[in-house]
Amino acid sequence: MRIDILTLFPEMFESPLKYSILKRAQDEGIVSIAITNIRDFAADKYRKVDDRPYGGGAGMVMMPAPLFDCFEHVEKLAPRRGRVILLTPQGQPFRQAKAQELAQEERLILIAGRYEGFDERIRIGLGAEQISIGDYILNGGELAAMVLLDAVVRLLPGALGDEQSAQDDSFSEGLLEYPQYTRPEVFRGMRVPEILLSGDHAKIAQWRRQQALERTQAWRPDLLERSDAPDE
Ligand code: SAM
Repeated sequence: MRIDILTLFPEMFESPLKYSILKRAQDEGIVSIAITNIRDFAADKYRKVDDRPYGGGAGMVMMPAPLFDCFEHVEKLAPRRGRVILLTPQGQPFRQAKAQELAQEERLILIAGRYEGFDERIRIGLGAEQISIGDYILNGGELAAMVLLDAVVRLLPGALGDEQSAQDDSFSEGLLEYPQYTRPEVFRGMRVPEILLSGDHAKIAQWRRQQALERTQAWRPDLLERSDAPDE
């Protein structure tokens, strides 16, 4: 997969892309990630990319021209346009099902906003899909783009050491994950449940399923109302 990110703050991506699964996935050619600075496409000598809103009001708005020029440049860097995503609090909420859907794509182009957001003609003209990472306002779309990228890359075949671990994760099957334990068997008086030490894989799977259902019911009953919730 190729992921392009359009941003006014390319340096913000340096550290997250240098560690752990994101680094390994790039090193192994599972994903290639390219960051492009929207400001490089500003037309004037002051490299201006924002302006005051028509109609008045606080703050500045991202101008359409630098972003369109930047997008049209980036679009041509690979044969396919792929999915174009504007990170915005006004978008559809980002969920695991969307991460799984995006992980099937050959290419994603993510656009991070700043200031008071995008001139409306950017959304209309690019025909972009809008995604929000939650009902709160961030200062910019960079962290939102990183959240999306991180969630998608770990689902790409080969990105995780153990393929099974992504399948068992919370939300993958509409449930929270079952409780996990590691050594020691007893820690500060708290014991690992006997069943996990039994070696009976069928019983362990049944127990885990039951635990996943119970904790979802207790902590996130809203997940059980969704269409992807299991019948149990
Ligand atoms: N004035 C805009 C509004 O009320 O819809 C918010 C602008 S916000 C300060 C600046 C940028 O941060 C947005 O253009 C978007 O790219 C990003 N952003 C903020 N919150 C976000 C969220 N919850 N999900 C995705 N992106 C977000």
